[in-house]
Amino acid sequence: MTIDQIINKARENDPETDTGLISRAYEFARRVHGSQKRETGEPFIEHSLHTAYILAQIRADGHTVAAGILHDTLEDSDYSEDDLGKKFGADIAALVAGVTKLKKIKYTGEKRYVESLRKMFLAMSRDIRVILIKFADRLHNLRTLDALPEKKRLRIAKETLEIYAPIAGLLGVWRLKWQMEDICFKYLYPEEFKRLEYKYEVERKVELNQYTQKIKNILGQKLKEEGLEFTIEHRFKHLYSIYKKMRTKDRKFDEIYDVFALRVIVPTVFDCYKTLGIIHSLWKPRANRIKDYIAVPKPNGYRSLHTTVFGPENKITEFQIRTKEMHEEALFGIAAHWYYKHDDDRTKPFKQPRWIKEILDIQRRTENTSDFINKIKFDVFRDRIFVFSPKGDVFDLPEGATPIDFAYAIHTDIGNKATGALVNDKMAPLDRNLKNGDTIEIIVDKKRRGPNRDWLRFVKTSRARDKIRTALKDSKLNQIKRIIPLRGK
Ligand code: MN
Repeated sequence: MTIDQIINKARENDPETDTGLISRAYEFARRVHGSQKRETGEPFIEHSLHTAYILAQIRADGHTVAAGILHDTLEDSDYSEDDLGKKFGADIAALVAGVTKLKKIKYTGEKRYVESLRKMFLAMSRDIRVILIKFADRLHNLRTLDALPEKKRLRIAKETLEIYAPIAGLLGVWRLKWQMEDICFKYLYPEEFKRLEYKYEVERKVELNQYTQKIKNILGQKLKEEGLEFTIEHRFKHLYSIYKKMRTKDRKFDEIYDVFALRVIVPTVFDCYKTLGIIHSLWKPRANRIKDYIAVPKPNGYRSLHTTVFGPENKITEFQIRTKEMHEEALFGIAAHWYYKHDDDRTKPFKQPRWIKEILDIQRRTENTSDFINKIKFDVFRDRIFVFSPKGDVFDLPEGATPIDFAYAIHTDIGNKATGALVNDKMAPLDRNLKNGDTIEIIVDKKRRGPNRDWLRFVKTSRARDKIRTALKDSKLNQIKRIIPLRGK
């Protein structure tokens, strides 16, 4: 991997990107890492470059790419965040510091899981790009996992599959999610991986390739006749998602039909619908398999038209029809989104609140609708929920926690003086069970004497319980003091 490859990629994404900055980051990182080697025997700087390249591939902005090169420099030197700030600006320094903080996880086992999840969410609420860098770093580490002792290898693979991949899915960074999952699959279930890989890559791909080529020819011809601009791609489902489907639906590999899909990319939304009509005029659609995710996007923001038809030789064939912008979003998720949104005004500094809102929106919509997210919720959040203050600060609480638990998590005084709560901008009772992604605002009455004894019946956290008990005891003591002045006073 060379720095020129990274610069070219970054320039492809954004012609005005500050390539000088990326070069300087490279020179600095090379000096810091010096002759340091990775466990693979490669020079350490290779890892820095690969991480940056992965970021450029998912269309991250220039600062994120530069921070990707620098992501291990704070850990491996005596430089501070301030030093980096002076050299590369506060934005890049904060990104590198954010990634460095994610590494320091004290616990093991289940506690480690919760701790790293909590840190990920905290980092995410401050700057989503920190997580993108962490994903890229992790993906490159996965690619070089062979060099590690088995125990460590399995721990990293498991952690990735349980924490990183679901969050990547939550953020819609599919490209990284797939890659991470397939590598973890290989290490965690080597037998199943090998069997499936053989069946898929060797036995079926040749046949599938011929088939998709045939479809491309027929459809391409027709679209041309109708005067449409288009590209047709095909994608094969990645191995881990096939494996998951076989397991959850208890099917054999040969019974899974949607191992491949054709993607038609056209200029406008109108062209999408037109293309759908053309496909249906060529092949008979399967009933109930037409999905309009353009009119009604998926909870994570995904947009496309889907249809499944009986194609040539009566083969069940899935099409996904979308515009170029939808396609980029589907591949790169939040990373691409950033890119588009900032296109209009790149002089403005990166604004956090929009991203916090994005995450909140994803999570909020998560609750009510799709299975996909429910599953992620189950996998990712288990018995913890993450809730937010109106400013976007993240708090993790046990499932079933109430606004009072939240109030005490912020500050004892806020708990003691709480009189009401707004949950997602609506008044809610103080014993309401909070849900993942809720935003809570506590209404306080400054004149309030102290907590209500009844709260003890519903609070879930020991912190809230202890604070309530202490406050009740104090107020009793004060009453007594007022009636019987204690000796010495
Ligand atoms: Mn690293």
